[in-house]
Amino acid sequence: MTDSMTVMTNVMLRIDPQACDGIGMCAHLAPDLITLDRWGYPIIPTRVLDVEEVSQATKAVKGCPKKALHLIANK
Ligand code: SF4
Repeated sequence: MTDSMTVMTNVMLRIDPQACDGIGMCAHLAPDLITLDRWGYPIIPTRVLDVEEVSQATKAVKGCPKKALHLIANK
C-alpha cells in the first residue's frame, strides 16, 4: 500500500525463470516484497517499486546465488 509519504521509482524487479533454482533465498532477503509459490519459486511485484522496496529488492538481487533477479528501469 502506498501513502502520501511513499516515494515511487521507475524501477521494477525482473526474474529470469530459467536461471532461478527455486530455493527461495530472495524471499528471506526481501520478505515484504517477494513471496514463494507452492513449489518454492518467487512471486515478485509486477509494478514499479517505491524507494524502500528498491532497498529490499537490491538485497535480494545481490543475494541471489543464480543471478536470476534484476532491477530494471520501467519503460
Ligand atoms: S534467490 Fe534467486 S535463484 Fe533463489 S529463488 Fe530467488 S530468484 Fe530464484
